[in-house]
Amino acid sequence: MSNTDFALAIEDLTVSFDGFKAIDKLTLYIDRNELRVIIGPNGAGKTTLLDLICGKTKAGSGSIKFKNIELTKMAEFKRVRLGIGRKFQTPSIYENLSVFQNLEVSYPKGRSVMGSLAFKCTDEVKARVQVVAEDIFLSDRLDLEAGLLSHGQKQWLEIGMLLMQEPELLLLDEPIAGMSARERELTADLLQRICKNRAVIVIEHDMDFVKRIAHKVTVMHQGKILAEGPMDKVQADPKVIDVYLGH
Ligand code: ADP
Ligand code: MG
Repeated sequence: MSNTDFALAIEDLTVSFDGFKAIDKLTLYIDRNELRVIIGPNGAGKTTLLDLICGKTKAGSGSIKFKNIELTKMAEFKRVRLGIGRKFQTPSIYENLSVFQNLEVSYPKGRSVMGSLAFKCTDEVKARVQVVAEDIFLSDRLDLEAGLLSHGQKQWLEIGMLLMQEPELLLLDEPIAGMSARERELTADLLQRICKNRAVIVIEHDMDFVKRIAHKVTVMHQGKILAEGPMDKVQADPKVIDVYLGH
């Protein structure tokens, strides 16, 4: 397989904050249709890595290629247009709008019939909202004010807002934080479904959850990759037990 076949190819990526290397010559490849989980101790650089991929933070050196297009000098909004969706740790939804409206406003405006000038709720948008609402277990909550959802449902709604844009790469930072056991189960199911036609990177701490969803696991430590592979192999790695799982 050549590097151009990957959804995402990161090579020798480095970023420093005041001389401290938060990401240090990191190389990582993600396949199309892959669900990769990144784990590692606090401060390992996991969130910073997602920031670099989505463009929130500018790379110091190295390369990030998405569908073989170099991203490191590209503005954040252009990366969104290319098909990269990012979910941050705390859900950012419009609490005063309904679930339906939250999904509706997330529909890519350039793609709607009216263009970006006058947004109109077309049948096309409505149909897309229905499909996504079903995906995120909220089809019977469309008229509810989003602020009244449970914390877990808010997390789902934010994932749904990203799905409205049909991203080819989805970046999720601790998506099950604050979820009930039942919501975690449903989220595992959701993530397995949505990685069928896109690459998904998930940062997570809950090992039972990681086991359930991960195709491969990458363990980060001090801005570098400490171990990578199937969950059982990574879990048995003495280096990983030493810096992360043992605590
Ligand atoms: P993780 O998500 O693995 O817990 P982070 O990526 O948030 O780790 O942080 C990695 C390191 O980089 C930490 O030491 C953090 O303090 C530092 N860091 C992250 N972002 C910034 C920033 N914008 N400015 C300065 N230091 C930062
Ligand atoms: Mg983090």
